[in-house]
Amino acid sequence: MAKVCKFGGTSMADGNIINAVKKIIESDKERRFVVVSAPGKRYSGDTKVTDLLYACYSAIEKTGELGETFEPVKARFRSIVKELNANFDIEQTLSETQKLIEKERSADFTASRGEYLCAVIVAKVLGAKFIDARDVIFFTESGALDGDRSYKAIAEACRGEKICVFPGFYGSDTNGRVKTFSRGGSDITGAVVARAVNASLYENWTDVSGFLACDPRIVDSPKRIKSISYKELRELSYMGANVLHSESIFPVRKANIPIRIKNTFRPDDEGTEILPSSRYKPSGDIVTGVAGKKNFTVIYIEKSLMNSEVGFIAKVLAVLAEENIPVEHIPSGIDTMSLVIESGYLGGSKLGRVIDGIQNAVDPDVIRVIENIALVATVGHGMSSSVGTSARLFNAIAAADINIAMIDQGSSELNIVVGVRNEDYERCIKAIYAEFFS
Ligand code: ASP
Repeated sequence: MAKVCKFGGTSMADGNIINAVKKIIESDKERRFVVVSAPGKRYSGDTKVTDLLYACYSAIEKTGELGETFEPVKARFRSIVKELNANFDIEQTLSETQKLIEKERSADFTASRGEYLCAVIVAKVLGAKFIDARDVIFFTESGALDGDRSYKAIAEACRGEKICVFPGFYGSDTNGRVKTFSRGGSDITGAVVARAVNASLYENWTDVSGFLACDPRIVDSPKRIKSISYKELRELSYMGANVLHSESIFPVRKANIPIRIKNTFRPDDEGTEILPSSRYKPSGDIVTGVAGKKNFTVIYIEKSLMNSEVGFIAKVLAVLAEENIPVEHIPSGIDTMSLVIESGYLGGSKLGRVIDGIQNAVDPDVIRVIENIALVATVGHGMSSSVGTSARLFNAIAAADINIAMIDQGSSELNIVVGVRNEDYERCIKAIYAEFFS
Protein backbone atom coordinates (compact mmCIF):
# COMPACT_ATOMS: atom_id res chain seq x y z
CA MET A 1 0.00 0.00 0.00
CA ALA A 2 1.49 3.32 -1.02
CA LYS A 3 0.17 6.83 -1.20
CA VAL A 4 1.09 9.56 -3.63
CA CYS A 5 1.23 13.03 -2.08
CA LYS A 6 1.14 16.07 -4.32
CA PHE A 7 1.95 19.38 -2.65
CA GLY A 8 0.74 22.59 -4.28
CA GLY A 9 2.54 25.91 -4.51
CA THR A 10 1.36 27.30 -1.17
CA SER A 11 2.65 24.11 0.53
CA MET A 12 6.08 24.91 -0.94
CA ALA A 13 6.01 28.67 -0.38
CA ASP A 14 8.82 28.85 2.16
CA GLY A 15 11.24 26.72 4.15
CA ASN A 16 9.08 26.55 7.28
CA ILE A 17 6.15 25.18 5.33
CA ILE A 18 8.43 22.64 3.63
CA ASN A 19 9.46 21.51 7.11
CA ALA A 20 5.78 20.98 7.92
CA VAL A 21 5.48 18.97 4.70
CA LYS A 22 8.41 16.82 5.83
CA LYS A 23 6.55 16.03 9.06
CA ILE A 24 3.42 15.11 7.11
CA ILE A 25 5.36 12.66 4.97
CA GLU A 26 7.28 11.16 7.85
CA SER A 27 4.11 10.64 9.90
CA ASP A 28 2.80 7.93 7.55
CA LYS A 29 5.00 5.15 6.14
CA GLU A 30 2.70 4.77 3.17
CA ARG A 31 3.44 8.30 1.94
CA ARG A 32 6.23 7.22 -0.40
CA PHE A 33 5.72 9.16 -3.61
CA VAL A 34 5.90 12.93 -3.48
CA VAL A 35 5.09 15.38 -6.29
CA VAL A 36 5.77 19.08 -5.82
CA SER A 37 4.71 22.33 -7.45
CA ALA A 38 6.90 25.40 -7.68
CA PRO A 39 6.84 27.71 -4.64
CA GLY A 40 3.65 29.74 -4.62
CA LYS A 41 2.67 33.02 -3.00
CA ARG A 42 3.77 33.65 0.61
CA TYR A 43 1.34 36.54 1.08
CA SER A 44 -1.21 38.30 -1.05
CA GLY A 45 0.62 40.47 -3.54
CA ASP A 46 3.56 38.05 -3.71
CA THR A 47 4.49 36.46 -7.08
CA LYS A 48 4.49 32.71 -7.74
CA VAL A 49 7.84 31.34 -8.89
CA THR A 50 6.22 30.05 -12.09
CA ASP A 51 5.10 33.58 -12.94
CA LEU A 52 8.60 34.90 -12.23
CA LEU A 53 9.89 32.28 -14.66
CA TYR A 54 7.44 33.23 -17.40
CA ALA A 55 8.73 36.78 -16.96
CA CYS A 56 12.28 35.43 -17.42
CA TYR A 57 11.24 33.89 -20.70
CA SER A 58 9.61 37.14 -21.87
CA ALA A 59 12.93 38.88 -21.28
CA ILE A 60 14.75 36.26 -23.36
CA GLU A 61 12.23 36.68 -26.14
CA LYS A 62 12.50 40.47 -26.11
CA THR A 63 16.17 41.07 -25.46
CA GLY A 64 17.79 37.71 -26.17
CA GLU A 65 19.02 37.36 -22.58
CA LEU A 66 17.79 36.90 -19.02
CA GLY A 67 19.34 40.08 -17.69
CA GLU A 68 18.37 40.52 -14.05
CA THR A 69 15.07 38.65 -14.37
CA PHE A 70 16.38 35.39 -12.88
CA GLU A 71 17.59 37.15 -9.71
CA PRO A 72 14.23 37.04 -7.86
CA VAL A 73 13.98 33.31 -8.61
CA LYS A 74 17.43 32.72 -7.17
CA ALA A 75 16.55 34.82 -4.14
CA ARG A 76 13.41 32.74 -3.49
CA PHE A 77 15.28 29.45 -3.55
CA ARG A 78 18.18 30.79 -1.50
CA SER A 79 15.82 31.92 1.22
CA ILE A 80 13.99 28.57 1.19
CA VAL A 81 17.25 26.69 1.69
CA LYS A 82 18.24 29.09 4.46
CA GLU A 83 14.91 28.70 6.27
CA LEU A 84 15.21 24.95 6.00
CA ASN A 85 18.50 25.13 7.83
CA ALA A 86 19.59 22.40 5.49
CA ASN A 87 23.19 21.67 5.01
CA PHE A 88 23.57 21.87 1.26
CA ASP A 89 24.60 24.31 -1.36
CA ILE A 90 22.03 25.40 -3.94
CA GLU A 91 24.30 27.91 -5.72
CA GLN A 92 25.70 25.53 -8.29
CA THR A 93 22.25 24.15 -9.19
CA LEU A 94 20.95 27.72 -9.56
CA SER A 95 23.74 28.82 -11.88
CA GLU A 96 23.49 25.64 -13.98
CA THR A 97 19.75 26.23 -14.26
CA GLN A 98 20.31 29.80 -15.39
CA LYS A 99 22.73 28.64 -18.11
CA LEU A 100 20.31 25.95 -19.30
CA ILE A 101 17.42 28.44 -19.51
CA GLU A 102 19.58 30.66 -21.73
CA LYS A 103 20.62 27.70 -23.83
CA GLU A 104 17.22 26.02 -24.28
CA ARG A 105 15.29 29.27 -24.94
CA SER A 106 11.88 27.72 -24.51
CA ALA A 107 8.91 28.96 -22.49
CA ASP A 108 8.09 25.46 -21.27
CA PHE A 109 11.63 24.68 -20.16
CA THR A 110 11.94 28.01 -18.35
CA ALA A 111 8.57 27.63 -16.59
CA SER A 112 9.36 24.07 -15.53
CA ARG A 113 12.42 25.07 -13.50
CA GLY A 114 10.36 26.12 -10.48
CA GLU A 115 9.15 22.56 -10.00
CA TYR A 116 12.58 21.17 -10.85
CA LEU A 117 14.45 23.23 -8.25
CA CYS A 118 11.79 22.67 -5.63
CA ALA A 119 11.88 18.89 -6.10
CA VAL A 120 15.69 18.85 -5.89
CA ILE A 121 15.46 20.64 -2.52
CA VAL A 122 12.60 18.51 -1.15
CA ALA A 123 14.38 15.28 -2.16
CA LYS A 124 17.49 16.45 -0.26
CA VAL A 125 15.46 17.38 2.81
CA LEU A 126 13.70 14.00 2.86
CA GLY A 127 16.80 11.99 1.96
CA ALA A 128 14.72 10.67 -0.94
CA LYS A 129 15.39 9.82 -4.55
CA PHE A 130 14.86 12.69 -7.01
CA ILE A 131 13.28 11.51 -10.25
CA ASP A 132 13.27 14.06 -13.07
CA ALA A 133 9.84 14.19 -14.73
CA ARG A 134 11.61 14.79 -18.02
CA ASP A 135 12.83 11.17 -17.94
CA VAL A 136 9.53 9.53 -17.00
CA ILE A 137 6.58 11.62 -18.19
CA PHE A 138 6.05 11.65 -21.93
CA PHE A 139 3.81 13.45 -24.38
CA THR A 140 2.73 12.17 -27.78
CA GLU A 141 3.30 13.91 -31.10
CA SER A 142 -0.07 15.65 -30.75
CA GLY A 143 0.81 16.96 -27.27
CA ALA A 144 -1.37 14.54 -25.27
CA LEU A 145 -0.02 12.58 -22.32
CA ASP A 146 1.53 9.29 -23.43
CA GLY A 147 0.08 7.38 -20.49
CA ASP A 148 1.32 3.86 -21.09
CA ARG A 149 4.89 4.92 -21.77
CA SER A 150 4.92 7.22 -18.74
CA TYR A 151 3.40 4.66 -16.32
CA LYS A 152 6.01 2.11 -17.30
CA ALA A 153 8.94 4.51 -16.97
CA ILE A 154 7.77 5.78 -13.57
CA ALA A 155 7.25 2.28 -12.17
CA GLU A 156 10.71 1.35 -13.42
CA ALA A 157 12.40 4.43 -11.92
CA CYS A 158 10.77 3.87 -8.51
CA ARG A 159 11.59 0.18 -8.21
CA GLY A 160 13.30 -0.60 -4.91
CA GLU A 161 13.19 3.03 -3.71
CA LYS A 162 11.67 3.99 -0.37
CA ILE A 163 10.67 7.60 -1.00
CA CYS A 164 10.73 9.28 -4.43
CA VAL A 165 10.24 12.97 -5.23
CA PHE A 166 9.04 14.17 -8.63
CA PRO A 167 8.76 17.71 -9.96
CA GLY A 168 5.21 18.29 -11.18
CA PHE A 169 3.92 20.18 -14.23
CA TYR A 170 6.21 18.86 -16.98
CA GLY A 171 7.54 15.94 -18.96
CA SER A 172 9.18 15.64 -22.36
CA ASP A 173 7.90 15.68 -25.92
CA THR A 174 8.79 13.19 -28.62
CA ASN A 175 12.06 15.05 -29.29
CA GLY A 176 13.05 14.90 -25.63
CA ARG A 177 12.39 18.62 -25.10
CA VAL A 178 10.70 19.74 -21.90
CA LYS A 179 6.98 20.32 -22.31
CA THR A 180 4.57 21.46 -19.60
CA PHE A 181 0.95 20.62 -18.92
CA SER A 182 -1.42 23.59 -18.74
CA ARG A 183 -1.24 25.83 -15.64
CA GLY A 184 -1.87 23.98 -12.39
CA GLY A 185 -0.70 20.79 -14.12
CA SER A 186 1.24 19.35 -11.17
CA ASP A 187 -2.10 17.87 -10.15
CA ILE A 188 -1.97 15.83 -13.36
CA THR A 189 1.59 14.70 -12.59
CA GLY A 190 0.37 13.47 -9.18
CA ALA A 191 -2.40 11.49 -10.83
CA VAL A 192 -0.02 9.99 -13.39
CA VAL A 193 2.40 8.89 -10.66
CA ALA A 194 -0.51 7.47 -8.62
CA ARG A 195 -1.60 5.39 -11.57
CA ALA A 196 1.95 4.26 -12.36
CA VAL A 197 2.68 2.97 -8.85
CA ASN A 198 -0.88 1.70 -8.38
CA ALA A 199 -1.32 3.84 -5.28
CA SER A 200 -3.99 3.09 -2.71
CA LEU A 201 -4.68 6.83 -2.43
CA TYR A 202 -3.75 10.06 -4.19
CA GLU A 203 -3.46 12.79 -1.55
CA ASN A 204 -3.60 16.28 -2.99
CA TRP A 205 -2.27 18.72 -0.38
CA THR A 206 -3.47 22.31 -0.79
CA ASP A 207 -4.19 25.29 1.43
CA VAL A 208 -7.89 24.51 1.91
CA SER A 209 -9.61 21.77 3.87
CA GLY A 210 -11.37 20.32 0.86
CA PHE A 211 -13.91 21.24 -1.74
CA LEU A 212 -16.61 23.71 -0.86
CA ALA A 213 -20.14 23.51 -2.22
CA CYS A 214 -19.61 26.89 -3.88
CA ASP A 215 -17.17 29.76 -4.21
CA PRO A 216 -16.52 31.24 -0.72
CA ARG A 217 -16.00 34.66 -2.34
CA ILE A 218 -19.69 34.59 -3.27
CA VAL A 219 -21.33 32.78 -0.34
CA ASP A 220 -20.03 33.14 3.20
CA SER A 221 -18.54 29.89 4.58
CA PRO A 222 -20.25 27.45 2.27
CA LYS A 223 -20.62 23.82 3.28
CA ARG A 224 -17.60 21.57 2.81
CA ILE A 225 -18.13 18.57 0.56
CA LYS A 226 -17.07 15.41 2.41
CA SER A 227 -17.34 13.02 -0.48
CA ILE A 228 -17.78 13.56 -4.19
CA SER A 229 -17.66 11.31 -7.26
CA TYR A 230 -15.11 11.75 -10.05
CA LYS A 231 -17.91 12.73 -12.39
CA GLU A 232 -19.25 15.46 -10.12
CA LEU A 233 -15.76 16.76 -9.55
CA ARG A 234 -15.08 16.88 -13.26
CA GLU A 235 -18.20 18.99 -13.79
CA LEU A 236 -17.45 21.33 -10.90
CA SER A 237 -13.76 21.80 -11.61
CA TYR A 238 -14.38 22.31 -15.30
CA MET A 239 -16.87 25.00 -14.33
CA GLY A 240 -14.29 26.91 -12.35
CA ALA A 241 -14.14 25.30 -8.90
CA ASN A 242 -10.37 25.28 -9.04
CA VAL A 243 -9.06 23.24 -6.17
CA LEU A 244 -7.89 20.51 -8.52
CA HIS A 245 -6.93 20.65 -12.22
CA SER A 246 -9.91 19.31 -14.15
CA GLU A 247 -7.78 16.90 -16.20
CA SER A 248 -6.15 15.27 -13.21
CA ILE A 249 -9.02 12.86 -12.76
CA PHE A 250 -8.49 10.81 -15.91
CA PRO A 251 -5.34 8.80 -15.03
CA VAL A 252 -6.64 7.76 -11.59
CA ARG A 253 -10.26 7.20 -12.58
CA LYS A 254 -9.38 4.31 -14.86
CA ALA A 255 -7.53 2.58 -12.04
CA ASN A 256 -10.22 3.34 -9.43
CA ILE A 257 -7.76 5.19 -7.20
CA PRO A 258 -9.47 7.58 -4.78
CA ILE A 259 -8.22 11.14 -4.31
CA ARG A 260 -8.28 13.06 -1.04
CA ILE A 261 -7.92 16.83 -0.88
CA LYS A 262 -5.97 17.75 2.27
CA ASN A 263 -4.85 20.97 3.91
CA THR A 264 -1.10 21.27 4.61
CA PHE A 265 -1.84 23.93 7.23
CA ARG A 266 -4.45 21.80 9.03
CA PRO A 267 -3.26 18.25 8.35
CA ASP A 268 -5.75 16.68 10.76
CA ASP A 269 -8.78 18.02 8.89
CA GLU A 270 -10.58 15.28 7.05
CA GLY A 271 -10.67 17.08 3.67
CA THR A 272 -12.73 15.88 0.74
CA GLU A 273 -12.58 12.40 -0.73
CA ILE A 274 -13.13 11.90 -4.44
CA LEU A 275 -14.30 8.43 -5.35
CA PRO A 276 -15.06 6.40 -8.45
CA SER A 277 -18.81 6.01 -9.00
CA SER A 278 -18.62 2.34 -7.99
CA ARG A 279 -17.45 3.26 -4.48
CA TYR A 280 -19.31 6.52 -4.08
CA LYS A 281 -22.28 6.58 -1.73
CA PRO A 282 -24.41 9.71 -2.19
CA SER A 283 -24.72 11.67 1.03
CA GLY A 284 -28.43 12.26 0.73
CA ASP A 285 -27.92 15.83 -0.48
CA ILE A 286 -29.68 16.48 -3.77
CA VAL A 287 -27.07 18.94 -4.92
CA THR A 288 -23.35 18.47 -4.28
CA GLY A 289 -22.10 21.82 -5.50
CA VAL A 290 -22.66 24.91 -7.62
CA ALA A 291 -19.98 26.49 -9.81
CA GLY A 292 -19.77 28.72 -12.82
CA LYS A 293 -17.85 30.90 -15.22
CA LYS A 294 -18.46 34.29 -16.76
CA ASN A 295 -17.99 35.65 -20.27
CA PHE A 296 -19.72 33.42 -22.76
CA THR A 297 -21.48 34.32 -25.99
CA VAL A 298 -24.66 32.59 -27.14
CA ILE A 299 -25.40 32.43 -30.87
CA TYR A 300 -29.10 31.66 -31.25
CA ILE A 301 -30.25 30.17 -34.58
CA GLU A 302 -33.84 29.60 -35.68
CA LYS A 303 -35.05 27.95 -38.87
CA SER A 304 -38.42 26.36 -39.65
CA LEU A 305 -38.16 22.61 -40.14
CA MET A 306 -34.58 22.62 -38.87
CA ASN A 307 -35.27 19.19 -37.41
CA SER A 308 -35.88 17.62 -40.82
CA GLU A 309 -32.94 19.24 -42.60
CA VAL A 310 -30.29 16.54 -42.70
CA GLY A 311 -26.83 17.78 -41.69
CA PHE A 312 -28.02 21.18 -40.38
CA ILE A 313 -26.07 21.01 -37.12
CA ALA A 314 -23.03 19.56 -38.87
CA LYS A 315 -22.93 22.50 -41.29
CA VAL A 316 -23.14 25.00 -38.42
CA LEU A 317 -20.41 23.23 -36.48
CA ALA A 318 -18.20 23.07 -39.58
CA VAL A 319 -18.14 26.89 -39.60
CA LEU A 320 -16.80 26.90 -36.03
CA ALA A 321 -14.32 24.12 -36.73
CA GLU A 322 -13.01 26.14 -39.67
CA GLU A 323 -12.29 29.03 -37.28
CA ASN A 324 -10.86 26.65 -34.67
CA ILE A 325 -13.49 27.58 -32.07
CA PRO A 326 -14.62 25.06 -29.43
CA VAL A 327 -18.29 24.98 -28.38
CA GLU A 328 -19.24 24.48 -24.72
CA HIS A 329 -22.94 23.64 -25.04
CA ILE A 330 -25.47 23.21 -27.83
CA PRO A 331 -28.97 23.39 -26.33
CA SER A 332 -31.57 22.82 -29.04
CA GLY A 333 -35.29 22.71 -29.79
CA ILE A 334 -37.17 21.48 -32.87
CA ASP A 335 -36.54 24.59 -34.93
CA THR A 336 -33.89 26.27 -32.81
CA MET A 337 -30.38 25.71 -31.63
CA SER A 338 -27.94 27.79 -29.60
CA LEU A 339 -24.19 27.69 -29.58
CA VAL A 340 -22.58 28.61 -26.29
CA ILE A 341 -18.99 29.73 -26.82
CA GLU A 342 -16.35 31.25 -24.54
CA SER A 343 -16.25 34.90 -25.62
CA GLY A 344 -12.45 34.87 -25.67
CA TYR A 345 -12.57 32.73 -28.82
CA LEU A 346 -14.66 35.28 -30.70
CA GLY A 347 -12.39 38.33 -30.42
CA GLY A 348 -11.41 40.63 -33.30
CA SER A 349 -13.32 39.93 -36.46
CA LYS A 350 -14.02 36.30 -35.56
CA LEU A 351 -17.60 36.77 -34.36
CA GLY A 352 -18.51 38.54 -37.61
CA ARG A 353 -16.90 35.81 -39.68
CA VAL A 354 -18.74 33.10 -37.75
CA ILE A 355 -22.11 34.82 -38.24
CA ASP A 356 -21.47 35.29 -41.98
CA GLY A 357 -20.31 31.70 -42.23
CA ILE A 358 -23.48 30.35 -40.55
CA GLN A 359 -25.63 32.65 -42.71
CA ASN A 360 -24.04 31.22 -45.87
CA ALA A 361 -24.00 27.62 -44.68
CA VAL A 362 -27.62 27.18 -43.51
CA ASP A 363 -29.55 30.37 -44.37
CA PRO A 364 -31.34 30.63 -40.99
CA ASP A 365 -34.64 32.53 -40.45
CA VAL A 366 -33.20 34.23 -37.37
CA ILE A 367 -29.68 34.50 -36.04
CA ARG A 368 -29.03 36.46 -32.86
CA VAL A 369 -26.00 37.03 -30.67
CA ILE A 370 -26.31 37.36 -26.90
CA GLU A 371 -23.09 38.46 -25.23
CA ASN A 372 -21.85 38.70 -21.62
CA ILE A 373 -23.44 35.47 -20.46
CA ALA A 374 -22.32 33.55 -17.38
CA LEU A 375 -22.84 29.81 -17.06
CA VAL A 376 -23.85 28.34 -13.72
CA ALA A 377 -23.77 24.58 -13.20
CA THR A 378 -25.69 22.88 -10.41
CA VAL A 379 -24.20 19.43 -9.94
CA GLY A 380 -25.22 16.37 -7.94
CA HIS A 381 -25.93 12.66 -8.31
CA GLY A 382 -29.06 13.14 -6.24
CA MET A 383 -30.62 15.36 -8.91
CA SER A 384 -31.67 12.58 -11.26
CA SER A 385 -33.55 10.61 -8.64
CA SER A 386 -35.39 13.39 -6.88
CA VAL A 387 -38.51 14.71 -8.53
CA GLY A 388 -38.91 18.45 -8.81
CA THR A 389 -35.25 19.44 -8.57
CA SER A 390 -35.30 21.52 -11.75
CA ALA A 391 -38.53 23.20 -10.66
CA ARG A 392 -36.89 24.20 -7.38
CA LEU A 393 -33.81 25.42 -9.22
CA PHE A 394 -35.70 27.56 -11.74
CA ASN A 395 -38.08 28.91 -9.09
CA ALA A 396 -35.17 29.98 -6.93
CA ILE A 397 -33.59 31.80 -9.89
CA ALA A 398 -36.92 33.39 -10.84
CA ALA A 399 -37.56 34.48 -7.26
CA ALA A 400 -34.24 36.33 -7.37
CA ASP A 401 -35.58 38.12 -10.46
CA ILE A 402 -32.92 36.71 -12.74
CA ASN A 403 -33.67 36.01 -16.38
CA ILE A 404 -32.40 32.69 -17.74
CA ALA A 405 -30.97 33.00 -21.26
CA MET A 406 -30.25 29.31 -21.78
CA ILE A 407 -30.78 25.93 -20.10
CA ASP A 408 -28.83 22.75 -20.71
CA GLN A 409 -29.46 19.60 -18.73
CA GLY A 410 -26.61 17.17 -19.37
CA SER A 411 -27.90 13.77 -20.49
CA SER A 412 -26.24 12.20 -17.45
CA GLU A 413 -28.79 14.12 -15.33
CA LEU A 414 -25.86 14.95 -13.12
CA ASN A 415 -26.00 18.65 -13.81
CA ILE A 416 -28.17 21.49 -15.00
CA VAL A 417 -26.40 24.42 -16.60
CA VAL A 418 -28.13 27.78 -16.92
CA GLY A 419 -26.93 30.86 -18.78
CA VAL A 420 -27.60 34.20 -17.07
CA ARG A 421 -26.28 37.72 -17.61
CA ASN A 422 -22.76 38.28 -16.28
CA GLU A 423 -24.04 40.84 -13.81
CA ASP A 424 -26.52 38.33 -12.35
CA TYR A 425 -23.87 35.64 -11.88
CA GLU A 426 -23.13 36.09 -8.17
CA ARG A 427 -26.80 36.52 -7.27
CA CYS A 428 -27.69 33.40 -9.23
CA ILE A 429 -25.14 31.28 -7.32
CA LYS A 430 -26.38 32.72 -4.03
CA ALA A 431 -30.01 31.93 -4.89
CA ILE A 432 -29.23 28.33 -5.85
CA TYR A 433 -27.07 27.80 -2.78
CA ALA A 434 -29.76 29.19 -0.49
CA GLU A 435 -32.39 26.92 -2.07
CA PHE A 436 -30.46 23.67 -1.71
CA PHE A 437 -28.16 24.18 1.24
CA SER A 438 -29.64 26.63 3.69
N1 ASP B 1 3.59 25.85 -11.06
C1 ASP B 1 2.65 25.63 -12.12
C2 ASP B 1 1.62 26.73 -12.15
O1 ASP B 1 1.75 27.72 -11.44
C3 ASP B 1 2.03 24.29 -12.04
C4 ASP B 1 1.35 23.95 -10.74
O2 ASP B 1 1.47 24.65 -9.76
O3 ASP B 1 0.67 22.93 -10.72
O4 ASP B 1 0.70 26.66 -12.91
